[in-house]
Amino acid sequence: MKLVQCWDDGVTTDVRLAELLRRHDAKASFNLNAGLYQARRSRGWVHQGTEVWRLGWNEMRDVYRGFTIANHSLTHCCLDQIPIEQARQDIVQGCERLQQFFGQAVPGFVYPFGAFNDAVADAVREAGHVYARTTGQAGHRDAPAEAMAWQPDCHFMAPDFWARFERARTRGVFHFWGHSYEMVSEAQWDALDTMLARLNRVPGAQWGDVADAVSAARLEDAQLPVQRGLVGDEEKGRPVR
Ligand SMILES: [Zn+2]
Repeated sequence: MKLVQCWDDGVTTDVRLAELLRRHDAKASFNLNAGLYQARRSRGWVHQGTEVWRLGWNEMRDVYRGFTIANHSLTHCCLDQIPIEQARQDIVQGCERLQQFFGQAVPGFVYPFGAFNDAVADAVREAGHVYARTTGQAGHRDAPAEAMAWQPDCHFMAPDFWARFERARTRGVFHFWGHSYEMVSEAQWDALDTMLARLNRVPGAQWGDVADAVSAARLEDAQLPVQRGLVGDEEKGRPVR
């Protein structure tokens, strides 16, 4: 079974998260907005009474060394609410800047706010991405996986995290996601530490890349009869804000 995880927005708490992940030998993707960072750290917003700061370019290579980088668009706007040409620029430039800066391929995309439509999904694919993650939770994983509307199994703080993990076992991939700034107490950091240790003890489970997991799922789906009719609209990865 492959364990995959990804973390959004490129914030300063990723420094602590990356250290924690290294301690657990856990792979991860970090989803970044290349147009929003400055040379040094910059103030972002407030989450549950705690200031969120974006990382500076001056530390990004060190912070994310050894991890996978994915494109979260250039400016984190709602891509389905702006003209498609503008959305296309935001997608393409976000990818190009990350590739240039990190000197590595950027195969993955994550929709800001989980928001997309067919035209946006096409633009993401045409820009060379092999998958695009939504913020929806995978419901019927017996339905064909759509690479440009890829649903993770759950948020890392989901109350039914382990139940979803059990359900994902039969599929061979378990994907969780989140933002490191959501951990505003030591107890929440401890909980993630404990969770990673528990995942590492699962027999036969290995950390993997999101892009590989998506390709493997699609390969497997290609051998299954198509069951599109089983998926309700709310399960298709339409934005849950
Ligand atoms: Zn985001």
